[in-house]
Amino acid sequence: MNKKIVLTLLLVSVCSLSACGKDDIGSLDDSVIINEGSLSDSAEQETSAESLQTKAGGYVVTEVPTTTTTITTATDELGNIIAETVPVEQAPEVPTPETPVPETPSETVTETPAPSVIDYTPSTAAAGTPASTAVLPADAPTQYDYNYGPAPTVYNIPGIKYIDNVLIANKSYSLPADFYPDLDQTCLSQFYKLQNDAAAVGLNICLSSGFRSYETQDYIYNDYVARDGQEKADTYSARPGHSEHQSGLAIDVNQIDDTFIGTPEAIWLEAHCYEYGFIIRYPQSKQDITGYKYESWHIRYVGTDMSYKIHSKAIEMGDPYLTLEEYFGIDSYYH
Ligand SMILES: [Zn+2]
Repeated sequence: MNKKIVLTLLLVSVCSLSACGKDDIGSLDDSVIINEGSLSDSAEQETSAESLQTKAGGYVVTEVPTTTTTITTATDELGNIIAETVPVEQAPEVPTPETPVPETPSETVTETPAPSVIDYTPSTAAAGTPASTAVLPADAPTQYDYNYGPAPTVYNIPGIKYIDNVLIANKSYSLPADFYPDLDQTCLSQFYKLQNDAAAVGLNICLSSGFRSYETQDYIYNDYVARDGQEKADTYSARPGHSEHQSGLAIDVNQIDDTFIGTPEAIWLEAHCYEYGFIIRYPQSKQDITGYKYESWHIRYVGTDMSYKIHSKAIEMGDPYLTLEEYFGIDSYYH
């Protein structure tokens, strides 16, 4: 099954999933309207898995430590793949050869539980406040409240960056190519609550794009690069491995372009999404910080505890467009 056919299947799948109807699907060329989470086509799943192996080592910056070398693979600004092999410092030789050095079985790597929380606080952090100092506001919903949304699943997978249990996927932090969690079910159920409450006030907010695999993002991104060039494509489309959609925690709603800005739905979404555990991930006037232009349609699920903390911090700082990068004091650019 070639990629174009796969994408066509994905698009058809979303048309049936969307609550907005065909009119809201809009331009398929410009909009990414995909929800692989709705797929049940096992042939497609197999194709994805098969292709992922060939895609691994593409745009993701990976460091694969071995006993003797570290292989670093990356792309430069022009998109060329740079692969270099950097020797790792050799451990000092043990002068007593009779002392047995037990070999570490490779299984140990997987048996060693990876930390579920990586408290990453870069020394270069210039903005924001580490979440550990943020206080859950008194008006945050508790588990007994209707709109309470628990924190999403934390995966104990090396290579995924978490800060205070919040998965970070941006230009600085990528996801493993084979990370395929599908759309998070808590995220989806919270979205339905948001959607229902919006409908109760006469607004139509629908899911246009949810989970996207590394492979799909690879195809989409390269399509944009071919059309607009890499520099422009990087302002609105993530390189494979860097898309928040691959985390299963991001949803694009309604029309995925600037025509959504300023609509009653967009205004309501921006004002209320935190009540369900979401944040506007790429707010206006923060392109230099998030690395992406304003995306009024892209919401990210973090759970209500975190969304209320971020919201209250935003109020405290007098910045309604406080970003995840500022909140955690991290950056977002291709290193
Ligand atoms: Zn999006």
